[in-house]
Amino acid sequence: MCLNDHLTHKIPLTTQRSFCWHCGHVLAWFDLIPIVSALLTKSRCRYCQHHYGYTYVLFECLGGIIGTWLFPDPELWLIALCLFFLALEDWDQQTIHANLLCPWLAYLVWTRWETPQLLVVGMFALICLWLIYVRHALGSGDFHVLMVIGLVSSPMILALTL
Ligand SMILES: [Zn+2]
Repeated sequence: MCLNDHLTHKIPLTTQRSFCWHCGHVLAWFDLIPIVSALLTKSRCRYCQHHYGYTYVLFECLGGIIGTWLFPDPELWLIALCLFFLALEDWDQQTIHANLLCPWLAYLVWTRWETPQLLVVGMFALICLWLIYVRHALGSGDFHVLMVIGLVSSPMILALTL
């Protein structure tokens, strides 16, 4: 979520500590404890009292639950993190940095080489490309996301995802 905020507001990742988006005050370490800090401050900035909502708390809880659930499978865990980041980015900007998934897609294709799943996903990729470039019914960022989901799940899950 922090990475998404920085990319959305074009803030350098290396030079800024977390700060209040309303007053600009740099947050102390105890303001950044996931879930606990937001609950103790009632989701308000301690300096300007601006209410920033419970979105962070909700996503921190969901991230914890999903992360714990997927933790035994590091591949799925990393994919869930990437897709969660892209979902937040899509929510904020209606666009995503889908190219971040390209190295991951290459890895997934490499590990699934010579499997029937790759053939199914390849055929699905052709349909997606037709929907993107001929019918303009999908965004180009959807292609990367759908390919990743297709390569890590069954055809039934991919169909349900659609
Ligand atoms: Zn503030």
